[in-house]
Amino acid sequence: MGNASSAIESILSGASLTDVDVLKATESFPDYAVLPNVSVVKVGGQSLIDRGKAAVFPVVEELETARKKHKLLIGTGAGTRARHLYALAADLGLPTGVLTDIGTAVAGENAAILGYLMAKYGVPVVNVSEFAALPLFLAERNAAIFPGMPPYDMWQHVPSEGLIPPYRTDAGCYLVAEVYGCKQMIYVKDEDGLFTANPKQDSKAKLIPKATVDEVIAMDLPDLVIEGPVLELMRNARHVKSVQVINGLKPGLLTKALAGEHVGTLITAA
Ligand code: ADP
Ligand code: MG
Repeated sequence: MGNASSAIESILSGASLTDVDVLKATESFPDYAVLPNVSVVKVGGQSLIDRGKAAVFPVVEELETARKKHKLLIGTGAGTRARHLYALAADLGLPTGVLTDIGTAVAGENAAILGYLMAKYGVPVVNVSEFAALPLFLAERNAAIFPGMPPYDMWQHVPSEGLIPPYRTDAGCYLVAEVYGCKQMIYVKDEDGLFTANPKQDSKAKLIPKATVDEVIAMDLPDLVIEGPVLELMRNARHVKSVQVINGLKPGLLTKALAGEHVGTLITAA
């Protein structure tokens, strides 16, 4: 019953937590950024790690150099092996929650792989159950690797279409950045950013250097470079109101993006 919280306390105690006015009352305080000087970098699964050493080694070296200047939370994608598992499980008629569970394992494998590659720099893999220790690793080593999949397991929301888990590693990394009130969210993939269509299928696709969430949704593109639900999450962002998608196959872009330069597609909440 501290004084500082008395106003909100009197509104919340005994109130319904589904009452809109009650919910609004919790919004009347400044949002607290937990790790405001940390940049979250997602290293793509299919788009990057699955390409092997030609793609992975340069990114690892760039992360290691960046670590001397920036505090980095490095999330991993899942990729091709997860797609194989999703196909197998969907063919067996297993539900989204089960697909999520097994897809999560692949993001963990990719975190382990990056972890072994960065072990000599003292960068640890921190699993979700050990996130409470992240501040220590960030203070000591300036970086930590984590599996990008949000740990929804069988509690994953069922999508409106199909069985594929809608909140995968793009969403998981975004939510980490948002919850910790991080400085920025950078997606490292294998294209220059968001195009008007998947450039691997449409050679006429054009790069969209900058767009708001609403604009991207209004474009109703046939496919996206990041998971659609990230756009919905950004609409309610308290901290991370923009994300950048960059091409990790082009050396130096990650360094520039970390420095705040616009080198890919910037998607902003408003
Ligand atoms: P990750 O490896 O991070 O999981 P994905 O492979 O899921 O990344 O997503 C990146 C891929 O999305 C790109 O390699 C590209 O082929 C594809 N893609 C689909 N639609 C688009 C689009 N509109 N613009 C750019 N890339 C797109
Ligand atoms: Mg993906």
